[in-house]
Amino acid sequence: MTMIAANLQDVRARLAAACKAAGRSPAAVDLLAVSKTFGVDAVLQAFDAGQRAFGENYIQEAVQKIAALRHLPLEWHCIGPVQSNKTRLVAENFDWVHTVDQFKTAKRLSDQRPLALSPLQVCIQVNIDHGANKSGVAPHDALALARQITELPHLRLRGLMCIPEPCANFAAALAVHKRVKTLLDELNADGLSLDTLSLGMSQDLEAAVSAGSTLVRVGTAIFGKR
Ligand SMILES: *Cc1c(COP(=O)(O)O)cnc(C)c1O
Repeated sequence: MTMIAANLQDVRARLAAACKAAGRSPAAVDLLAVSKTFGVDAVLQAFDAGQRAFGENYIQEAVQKIAALRHLPLEWHCIGPVQSNKTRLVAENFDWVHTVDQFKTAKRLSDQRPLALSPLQVCIQVNIDHGANKSGVAPHDALALARQITELPHLRLRGLMCIPEPCANFAAALAVHKRVKTLLDELNADGLSLDTLSLGMSQDLEAAVSAGSTLVRVGTAIFGKR
């Protein structure tokens, strides 16, 4: 077994244990393998170990991998910042984008989504802990942005994504993750139908699952140190 296959097994076991501890079905949480900075070989090893969904931060780097692996049934998620001059590459190459925090970007993605492809699946990134230089919409602006995005024809709004600051312990991480879950619940109570909470990374996936994450984004614990 390769190191990546063994790591994937460990991460799946962590997820299963976290779901069990939270009284949630293991089927309720999907695993996104974050392959940024790793090559096509690493993605292939994860694919051979059963992984299908991959997350990438750097658009140019991702587009090359996506092209090289076009023959495989992979799902590609953009989890890095999307500058205006990169929206076309994202719209043409990815299945999901997790990092929308402005209507302007969403509109460009919808306009540039090729009609031959199914709608681009979108999460709104939320800056839950008000980090100064962080991407993400302020929590109180999330509802208005969500309503605008649902009007765009070639996007499908799926939920919220967040990258909280690292926390000192499980309880602190759980508390901040729960604030994102509460915001999702509030948007749904306001008439949206969002099914995705993109929350949790290598360090904090247990707290994220406990708070209600449906999609954890794991890089280091699968592929090793970057
Ligand atoms: C790099 C990255 C991850 C993965 O982080 P690890 O700590 O390596 O698991 C998850 N989400 C985003 C947005 C990232 O940029």
